[in-house]
Amino acid sequence: RPRVLSGIQPTAGSFHLGNYLGAVRQWVALQESHDAFYMVVDLHAITVPQDPAELRRNTRVAAAQLLAAGLDPERCTLFVQSHVPEHAQLAWVMNCVTGFGEASRMTQFKDKSAKQGADRTTVGLFTYPVLMVADILLYQADQVPVGEDQRQHLELTRDLADRFNTRFGDTFTIPNPYIVKETAKIFDLQDPSIKMSKSASSPKGIVDLLDDPKVTAKKVKSAVTDTDTVIRFDREAKPGVSNLLTILSTLTGTSVPDLERSYEGKMYGALKTDLAEVMVDFVTPFRNRTQEYLDDPETLDAILAKGAEKARAVAAETLATTYDRLGLLPAK
Ligand code: ATP
Ligand code: MG
Repeated sequence: RPRVLSGIQPTAGSFHLGNYLGAVRQWVALQESHDAFYMVVDLHAITVPQDPAELRRNTRVAAAQLLAAGLDPERCTLFVQSHVPEHAQLAWVMNCVTGFGEASRMTQFKDKSAKQGADRTTVGLFTYPVLMVADILLYQADQVPVGEDQRQHLELTRDLADRFNTRFGDTFTIPNPYIVKETAKIFDLQDPSIKMSKSASSPKGIVDLLDDPKVTAKKVKSAVTDTDTVIRFDREAKPGVSNLLTILSTLTGTSVPDLERSYEGKMYGALKTDLAEVMVDFVTPFRNRTQEYLDDPETLDAILAKGAEKARAVAAETLATTYDRLGLLPAK
């Protein structure tokens, strides 16, 4: 079985619709056909300030949501990044083969740091993509299911893996991004020119899966569309409507052309009402399942402990080989 690896940050508590459609939904499908490793990336979360109690709670909330979304600990390895120390260890090694200029070209860093200002931006945020490189290479992943915003980090991963292999001998599998075109970028409901994002979206622009379903319905109904009235998929001319069609199509399994046909002659209100209903039907059981996992933290923690143990076995082997190739003297 080919191997997949991916991660999600425990920031903000709730996952948003972009996280689910762009990433987590694929994770659930891939556990059937792949040797799958999925993690809550708490070490990535601390690249921006976090309240300790909230971070701890949100890490469990993230794990509970992954289980509620359909990850099955019998079919995949689910763990918390910081439970596997090899991530930080390999990240250091990869930092030492990354060019400063190369890291400086990462657009997500440029965007996030520009928003924060230089004084508040951490070195951790700068080197975040290199930690992500380590996350992936530790597991010798063949594929990495992510949203479009991670494509550049995947390119960096491939470059660094190849560089290390060339210098020190074959050590790492060169991974491929696994990006589902249709849902690779879900847009902000209020500003369909930007991606829906935990850190950048306004509350009205983001559909949080753990929101009260009434709030979700309201957000869908007040989504920005355009002054035209035709329900047609056109990313350039009609980004808001196209975003809603993408979401509805994915959640119902009806193709976009079929949706276009069924809304012929109808107004945006009809599309929004239907989408709101589909969304509520989706998030209501999701919320309940998440809560059930959170109500039983001992079971949840046991799942994560077992996942970490399985992950460590793989990660430790890759790290040992890496240290050996580098010429680090083994401890006696
Ligand atoms: P932040 O804005 O703080 O980076 P985020 O919303 O991007 O948060 P992450 O935890 O960084 O959330 O991302 C988890 C996964 O969700 C990644 O694979 C990412 O590519 C994917 N993802 C995030 N936003 C979207 C989106 N709008 N559409 C599709 N996929 C997305
Ligand atoms: Mg992100």
